Amino acid sequence: MTRNADRDQIRRQNRSIVLQALRRSGPKARIDLGQITRLSPATVTAITSDLLDQGLILSLESEEPKTHQARGRPRTLLKLNPDAVYIVSARLSVNNIDLSLVDFSGAVVRDKRTKFESASANADSFPVTLTGAIREFLAEAGVDGTRVREIGVAAQGVVETETGLIAWSPAFSGRRIPIVPPLQDAFGAECYISNDTNMITEALHWSDPSRYSGTFAVIMLDYGVGMGLYLNNQLFSGASGTAAEFGHANHIPGGALCRCGKRGCLEAYLSDYALVRAANHLPEDTDPMTIKAGVRGLALLLERAGSGDAGALKVFYEAGRVLGYGVARVIAMIDPKRIVLTGAAVRAFSFMEKGMWEGLEEALVADLRNNFSLDVMPWNEDFIRTGLIAQSMERLDKDFPGTVSRFSGHMARKDGEEVSA
Ligand SMILES: [Zn+2]
Repeated sequence: MTRNADRDQIRRQNRSIVLQALRRSGPKARIDLGQITRLSPATVTAITSDLLDQGLILSLESEEPKTHQARGRPRTLLKLNPDAVYIVSARLSVNNIDLSLVDFSGAVVRDKRTKFESASANADSFPVTLTGAIREFLAEAGVDGTRVREIGVAAQGVVETETGLIAWSPAFSGRRIPIVPPLQDAFGAECYISNDTNMITEALHWSDPSRYSGTFAVIMLDYGVGMGLYLNNQLFSGASGTAAEFGHANHIPGGALCRCGKRGCLEAYLSDYALVRAANHLPEDTDPMTIKAGVRGLALLLERAGSGDAGALKVFYEAGRVLGYGVARVIAMIDPKRIVLTGAAVRAFSFMEKGMWEGLEEALVADLRNNFSLDVMPWNEDFIRTGLIAQSMERLDKDFPGTVSRFSGHMARKDGEEVSA
């Protein structure tokens, strides 16, 4: 029994490796797939034969010139069947639902932005808004809802992966907004939710696994301050799925008022409203909701710093020091090999950098802080969608053979084929 379970596990893993190789590299001959995946020719043949039966991959004759080895026959290339199954990704932010329809090859075939009223959206109204928006989107694409196998959602704020709800977020007036259960009921697809920064972390791992693997952390400086953690080669979201709320870890007890309602959070010194509050000499307990910050507020502050305004430069320097102290805590706790800084506010990094290194040096002994690299990555909104797609595809690829029999009409082969490790 255990041995069969092991074999099944290995088979799923190998299938997933082959499907991912085709998704990353495009159409490939069996022999090249063997080289990329380091699976034996027998294993590649067995797996691809299953995948062909199931309609998940297609074979096509290469247009490459014939070679001697090909014995006069064109090489057969294998490629993912884009039409086999679809996924939907949804990104929720203030007033916006950004939807994408993605085919099995990983290509985005359609996208759309739908507006909603964040100021009045709550646990009763938003699930209806979201399912309605996805229904309309699929209807416009001419794709039947039953062909969508995965729906991945990313949201700003505190997201509980385990219960599938958004505990609180700047995108909603209400708290505890259910997302996963209503979507599963409406579409019968697998569904999950994550926060934005976790999806950026996933996207980095997908785009460059040799650089972004093992243990690393992503810090997103934006409207708020988010963190994604990759620990021992896995995205870490904690027991209830709300890790890692770096922005709401306390920096100074009883300090500046945070958007979450507590005082002294890192975010209350680092986010755009915190910078604008400090630059305008507003009291530390000024309600973040009343501060006009955002992209424009930050841009104005950057302009001032760029023209040498001492006040603005000091604000960024101090924020840099707070960031340095925060980074020091992350390093002391998890010993990452890399920390990535990104988000819209990373444009201000050149003004924060000196403060950050000084803060880090003040906060942590050299033995602990000398083993990590820092990447400062220009902000790219697409990373969140890339992460959602990567995670959906990974789940799909592993979900065999159950998924396959459902949409292809073919049963997975249960005969005595060999499974090689
Ligand atoms: Zn907070």
